[in-house]
Amino acid sequence: DSPENSEIKLSIQVTPFGSLQKLVIGRDVTRLARLEQMRRHFVANVSHELRTPLTVLGGFVETLGHMDQIRMEDLKKYLATMQEQAVRMQRLVDDLLMLSKLETAAPRTHDETVDVTALLAGLKEQAELLSGEQHHVITVETDKSLRLLGSREELLSAFSNLVNNAVRYTPAGGRIALAWKAAPDGSACFSVSDTGEGIALEHVPHLTERFYRVDTARSRASGGTGLGLSIVKHVLLRHDARLDIESEPGVGSTFTCVFPTARARRVDHPVSGIA
Ligand code: ADP
Repeated sequence: DSPENSEIKLSIQVTPFGSLQKLVIGRDVTRLARLEQMRRHFVANVSHELRTPLTVLGGFVETLGHMDQIRMEDLKKYLATMQEQAVRMQRLVDDLLMLSKLETAAPRTHDETVDVTALLAGLKEQAELLSGEQHHVITVETDKSLRLLGSREELLSAFSNLVNNAVRYTPAGGRIALAWKAAPDGSACFSVSDTGEGIALEHVPHLTERFYRVDTARSRASGGTGLGLSIVKHVLLRHDARLDIESEPGVGSTFTCVFPTARARRVDHPVSGIA
C-alpha cells in the first residue's frame, strides 16, 4: 500500500432518522497537506544548503578564469577554499543518501552480533582526528563482553554522528566520555557525554528534525549538515531503541542510545582489543 492509499478514509453520513443517506469517499486532507508541506520544506532546505557552496565555487572558477597570471601561493588558497566547499556538498549528499536509505529500507530482518567495544576503538580515533589541535580529553569505558544485535553499518553511522557532535560542540580542551555498558534493567546503553556548550530545554524535542539547528552559523562553520541527529533517530527506530538527551547550557550534554534487553548479548571470552 502506498502511504497515500493508506490515507483514504471512508466516511458515512447518517440522517437524523438513522437511514443511510450518502456515502462519501474522502481523504484525510490535513495529514496529506501536512506531508506535502514537509516535502516542500525539505526540498527548499536542501536547495538552500547546496546554493552557498555552489555560489562560492562558481565565483572562484569565474575569477580564476579571468586571471592571466596568479601567484602559486594565492592559487593554493583559492583551491583550498574550493575544496572545502566541495567537501561540504559531498557530506550533505552522503547524509541525504544515508537518510533516504534508512527511510525507504524494509524493516530489519537479519541481525549481526556487533562488537561495540571494537567500534569504540575506531570512534575514539575518529574523535581525536577531528579534535586535532583542540586537544579534547577523550575517554572510553566499555563492557567488553556485551554485544549488540543489529546492523554494524547503521549503528556505526549513528554512534559516529554523536561522537562528531560532541567534538564539534565542545570548546578546546573539553572532556568527552564514550561509554558502552548494561543498565541495571538489562538494557544496553551507548552514551556520549561532553563538557560542551549544552542545549537549552526548548530545543531538545526538535533536535532530531531534519535541518534543525540551535545555531545555524555555528553548525555550518564546524562542518555540520543538520542531518546527523535525524540519521541517529532513524537508526535507533530500526533497532527498537530510544534516545535519551540530558543537557544543560554551559555545562554539557549526554546523548544515550538505549537498546532493549532483547538486543543485548553476553559473550564468555571477549576478544576485542581496547581497554
Ligand atoms: P548538525 O550538523 O547541525 O550538528 P545534528 O542533527 O547533528 O546537525 O544536530 C542538530 C543540532 O543539535 C546542532 O545544530 C546543535 O545545535 C545541536 N547539538 C547536537 N549535538 C550537540 C552537542 N553534543 N552539544 C550541543 N549541541 C548539540
